[in-house]
Amino acid sequence: MSLPLLPMTGVGSNPKPHYVIVENGRLNETSKRAISDYLKFQESVSIDVLVDGEPYVLDMATDFAVALGLPLEDWTRSYDNRFWRKGIVDRQLQRAEPIRLKQFEYAQSQTHKPVKAMLTGPTTLSNWNFNNHYKTREELVVAWANVIRQEALALDNTGARYIQIDEPAIGERHWEKELFIEGLRIVTNGLKAYTITHICYGDFPLVFQNLKNLPVNQIDIELSSDLELGLERSDILRMLKEDPLTKYKDVAVGVIDIKANIPVESLDTVVRRIYTALEVLAPDDGALRRIWIDADCGFRATKDSYIAEEKLRVMAKAVKKVRKDLESR
Ligand SMILES: [Zn+2]
Repeated sequence: MSLPLLPMTGVGSNPKPHYVIVENGRLNETSKRAISDYLKFQESVSIDVLVDGEPYVLDMATDFAVALGLPLEDWTRSYDNRFWRKGIVDRQLQRAEPIRLKQFEYAQSQTHKPVKAMLTGPTTLSNWNFNNHYKTREELVVAWANVIRQEALALDNTGARYIQIDEPAIGERHWEKELFIEGLRIVTNGLKAYTITHICYGDFPLVFQNLKNLPVNQIDIELSSDLELGLERSDILRMLKEDPLTKYKDVAVGVIDIKANIPVESLDTVVRRIYTALEVLAPDDGALRRIWIDADCGFRATKDSYIAEEKLRVMAKAVKKVRKDLESR
């Protein structure tokens, strides 16, 4: 199945419906219902590559620690004022059972559209769990990478066509560039699936040079506030226009702000943001075909599922309008 121009996708999470009972990654009837409902919603607004909404977890790291049998620390507060429990690496990391495989298989069984499988990357897992076992940072990151590699292979073998490896922590340790790339390379090496990594906070100019070299097909970046600032005022947009990332990678552009208490954008606003993104990242037709559209991040932070859905709806309307305009040129 081929994708239209400016394919639309999601980054991952969605606000949890009230009925969901979270069991550290385990699927249950409530999370299955949330996945099915969210897939149906995304189909109804014509999203091209769907996500499951991650109703089975509170965060991106704890279910990995639990699946590996690691003990958990007490609750920790995250950068955006949410709470999660860090795992403690107190032994050699080994994947004893699937981590996100069942979730993917269930979601893909509920739709004919492709579903994106979601994994957390080795650098982020190394940062967001304590380490009491490995002597060096290198050993720790490589150990996590080998675990995630096995999970990625299992997803690949079950037919996942898109695998996203989230590395929000890249910005926390930008000086570990080589190790970061090595970790991702271990995970993605030789996979049949199209691979993606999502980057969403930290000092973008510092990590920009790394993005070109990442061993994935697509880089997914948060960009809505810069698109709102415009080329005149945004250093990031100027940097991207000088040396468009689309020369090196497919790029998914976040055009919707997912933060809580940000009202639903108007259609005109989103259309304008998309055109600004094209002005920056699509100097020619080849580059245009490397651009995907999504929101800045998962919608978990939006908190209100009605607003999250309206935001996705307006994004889809805007993309359809831009596609029509571009086709009639
Ligand atoms: Zn993000």
